[in-house]
Amino acid sequence: MPRALISGISGQDGSYLAESLLREGHEVHGLVRRSSLEVPHVKMSRISTVMDQLTLHPCSLESQTALFEVVREIKPDYLYHLGAQSFVSYEIDQEYATLDTNLGSTHALLSAVMRFAPHCRFYFAASSEMFGHAETSPQNESTPFNPRSVYGISKLAGFHICKSFRENEDIFACSGILYNHESPRRGKEYVTQKIISQAVAIHRGHSNVIKLGNLDARRDWGHAKDYVEAMRKITEFDKPDDFVVASGRTHSVREFCEKAFSLLDLDFEDFFECDPRFFRPSEKTPLCGDATKAHEELDWAPTHDLDTIIEEMMDCELERTASFTN
Ligand code: GDP
Repeated sequence: MPRALISGISGQDGSYLAESLLREGHEVHGLVRRSSLEVPHVKMSRISTVMDQLTLHPCSLESQTALFEVVREIKPDYLYHLGAQSFVSYEIDQEYATLDTNLGSTHALLSAVMRFAPHCRFYFAASSEMFGHAETSPQNESTPFNPRSVYGISKLAGFHICKSFRENEDIFACSGILYNHESPRRGKEYVTQKIISQAVAIHRGHSNVIKLGNLDARRDWGHAKDYVEAMRKITEFDKPDDFVVASGRTHSVREFCEKAFSLLDLDFEDFFECDPRFFRPSEKTPLCGDATKAHEELDWAPTHDLDTIIEEMMDCELERTASFTN
């Protein structure tokens, strides 16, 4: 039975990946923060239905010793490194933590693999943020990187660490350069889930306003379930390589709002308030991915478009909040 280890297993992607690997007969291990284990109903809700089939290891991504210990003990056949400080922030303390966690953990896990499980196939969750202010759109694997956030810089460094272990140490280390991917399991700090939950709150009469930043910002949004399947195809491919994973289409935040509110027969413009706090430093080139290489070499294609993603997120939010009515 293949043995997989997932860092970030309790997050959106980690939870879908764990379910997918369990379905395929893997033994699945996950790294979780000790503090999360103390409040499982809050921090582990995404993996609650498969919890009894997983082996969880309390381990901080900041501790090189702890990461080494877990890899030495498990000797995984696959290691999916999804754990990271993942929210794009421009605050100095947050930026320090982002660099510290994201670079340190990637280097420590790859070093541990090299030492204790050199046969292991290592997947790194790279990000479209690495393209930042890209010169061209859409971006593919040959587009020069130009990150503009510390998060993007940390991911680009992780990407190069991975490449260096592949080329210099002969480790099967690969990266998926994933564009935004959403689902009912997305955190509320992301604009998609914020819009869905606010729309439902307005629909239920619990709120009458939605405060957002730049409505003209565009994103290439896909479904996390599809992107997790791409991760598996990348690690199961016959050679280690890097792939862009994207839908290839962008939509504006405004379009997302209009679609979501119209599902509830509401006009988004009646409730929208512009809030400068949610504006980001300039977003020049729209990030749009060209996943031709993944289509051709991995036979991967997304199965959800934006409408189906919004509908699923909306249905889940309506169901989740049904008991709060009245
Ligand atoms: P990101 O791609 O990781 O930054 O994902 P987000 O979901 O946080 O943001 C997506 C886009 O929505 C960005 O271009 C933001 O500028 C834009 N946006 C507009 N209003 C908001 C808001 O209220 N919150 C967030 N998070 N993003 C917003």
